[in-house]
Amino acid sequence: MTFLTTKEEEGFRGEVREWLADAVAAQGPPPGEHDWAARRAYDVAWQRRLYDAGYAGMGWPREFGGRGAPPGEELVFLEEQALAGAPPPGTMFVGTRHAGPTLIAEGTDAQRRAHLPRILRGDDVWCQGFSEPGAGSDLASLRTRAVRDGDHYIVTGQKIWSTRAQVADLCELLVRTGPREPKHAGISWLILDMRAPGVEVRPLRTIDDDDHFCEIFLDEVRVPVANLVGAENDGWRVTNVTLRFERGTAFASHIVELRRTLRALAAFAAVRRTRAGVAWDDPGLRRDVGVMAAEVTALWRMTQLAIAETARTGVPSAYGSLVKLRYSELAQAIADLHVRIAGRPALGGAPVAGHDTARLVHDHLWSLHTTIAAGTSQIQRNVIAERVLGLPKGP
Ligand SMILES: Cc1cc2nc3c(=O)[nH]c(=O)nc-3n(C[C@H](O)[C@H](O)[C@H](O)COP(=O)(O)OP(=O)(O)OC[C@H]3O[C@@H](n4cnc5c(N)ncnc54)[C@H](O)[C@@H]3O)c2cc1C
Repeated sequence: MTFLTTKEEEGFRGEVREWLADAVAAQGPPPGEHDWAARRAYDVAWQRRLYDAGYAGMGWPREFGGRGAPPGEELVFLEEQALAGAPPPGTMFVGTRHAGPTLIAEGTDAQRRAHLPRILRGDDVWCQGFSEPGAGSDLASLRTRAVRDGDHYIVTGQKIWSTRAQVADLCELLVRTGPREPKHAGISWLILDMRAPGVEVRPLRTIDDDDHFCEIFLDEVRVPVANLVGAENDGWRVTNVTLRFERGTAFASHIVELRRTLRALAAFAAVRRTRAGVAWDDPGLRRDVGVMAAEVTALWRMTQLAIAETARTGVPSAYGSLVKLRYSELAQAIADLHVRIAGRPALGGAPVAGHDTARLVHDHLWSLHTTIAAGTSQIQRNVIAERVLGLPKGP
């Protein structure tokens, strides 16, 4: 793997840049935060634009609607999307970033044919039903039960923290099919139709006035056995495939976006008045911005490696935990930098001339989630210690 782009890739960059300039302008601004029907429509419309132009599923097989592009082109596309200020994946995140990739790696041909083109066209929105009130970091303790009844499972239980489940059509659902097996050996990975009778979604409101989290209640929901991904009771292995995509490659567009954020903060520091002049006059601040810029570049290189590795092997390795850990901690440090430039009173809503403080407060609170979602930093460190460095397991 080389980090230098080829002449062909640079040609592709020019083509993509031109397309993005028009497409981002045509897409327009996003709708209000709490208007979920509009948010879904907006994200789906962007996904459809990508699909129609041949840019959806850059690395996915062509037979399922993907572009089948080499990793170099995929990386160029991610960079250009961030530079152009293209919409983030939003409600399409789970489908395009880890449910689809899991089906490519672990699904049957019928499952791939049924779901992959629909994800890429923006026909279906997916959510993730992994966590439960008693199973977060210790995910294998999950208790949602699935009992076989002919060619269906009858599923009963509760999920929590399912992001954007209120607009989802389908769900990556983890269930316990082997109640007497050791906990890791009794889990199965199912595709759940969110409109099936017995599925109830209740959104939760959080401290940052967001309502993207949902609880999912499942009361004797019938799920066809044909929706089982991998073998019955082999779901822990499939779960780890999903988690490796979620940690290793799913945040690629967020990571490349950090560059733009940092550049915008440097520009803000250059005009933010302090008692002595402007914030940028502070050599300590300039040094910290320089260090963060180098760290963002290093993290982008790690992401490039993870994407290239996935193109080669089909699934990212446990190395993805390094990417996720570094991304989440750096994203928080950059959110802190924003507060440092604006001044701490801005966090309490104090106005800052020419600056959107409501956005600053939201972004700062939002950044706190990054070290929890997709497995906490402590869990990533455990994974890195045991599966990357080969250190002995903790007690
Ligand atoms: C923004 C966001 C989006 C999310 N989206 C989804 C989603 O769509 N679907 C879904 O299923 N879940 C989702 N989650 C849930 C997420 O996966 C869990 O919150 C996470 O795994 C932690 O579980 P928990 O909240 O139960 O905390 P706990 O597991 O109770 O952890 C509490 C604390 O104990 C520490 N800890 C626990 N075990 C260990 C250990 N063995 N070693 C060291 N420290 C440990 C943790 O690091 C943490 O600091 C989301 C979470 C967030 C924040």
